[in-house]
Amino acid sequence: TNTLNGKVALVTGASRGIGAAIAQRLAADGASVALTYSHSKDRAEEVVAGIRSAGGRAHAIQADSARDEDIAAAVDETVRALGGLDILVNNAGGGTFGPVQELPLDAIDTMINVNIRGVVVGIREALRHLPDGGRIITIGSINADRIPFPGGSVYGMTKSAVAGLTRGLARELGPRAITVNNVQPGPTDTDANPADGPMSSSMLGWMALDRFGRSEEIAAMVSYLAGPEAGFVTGASLDIDGGFGA
Ligand code: NDP
Repeated sequence: TNTLNGKVALVTGASRGIGAAIAQRLAADGASVALTYSHSKDRAEEVVAGIRSAGGRAHAIQADSARDEDIAAAVDETVRALGGLDILVNNAGGGTFGPVQELPLDAIDTMINVNIRGVVVGIREALRHLPDGGRIITIGSINADRIPFPGGSVYGMTKSAVAGLTRGLARELGPRAITVNNVQPGPTDTDANPADGPMSSSMLGWMALDRFGRSEEIAAMVSYLAGPEAGFVTGASLDIDGGFGA
């Protein structure tokens, strides 16, 4: 613990679910944490209040990851409010599932804009501030590599895209010792994919472990990647999926 003392992290999409757990964990590790949300102001403020009451430093920012100007403003506000930026966690994202011919084009645009474009724009903005040895971590999905049901083609495409981005950027930023990694969760119990939801028994059928993941488990892998012991891990897509991809 406290391996991130003195560091500043920005976690996108952290009012709920995996992002909220990441923000809480990085704060518990000692980082000052800025977190973005799109709509859930109250939930985001609850996450901030929880971190503050545990003695940490946190700041919530409304920023739609589909909007370039919101992302730029969130990075600027992080630096202004917390004094810098050392760790970027691209977590905001989601999926609309259905046969490709039936998916509305605006749902396809949203997946591409948030899951891919928002990640690229966030990285471009963060790179104006990240010091040598900084960290870039993206939350992809095991669906980049395995998608054993129909209806996830575009979502899977967006998560494969960030895996490719991660490999290329690791090469670009290696000379500055900035590591770039992609965490690929499997089914994780959140509002987006509840463990008691309609897809739950199908999901378990594709997994080695007979349970969904917990957001805190994903956050623990992010904590490792953000920390000083992970300086030799870069360009990697790391599965944390209960064996979904096995
Ligand atoms: P949730 O839907 O539970 O939470 C999504 C979070 O992201 C919320 O805080 C939401 O904010 C925020 N968000 C959504 N869209 C935007 C946007 N356009 N701009 C800013 N913030 C946004 O999702 P999960 O926690 O389940 O998923 C988090 C990440 O993990 C996603 O990238 C997802 O693809 C990935 N993932 C999830 C898996 C799972 O099984 N849960 C499996 C594999 C990957 P607000 O509350 O304001 O809407």
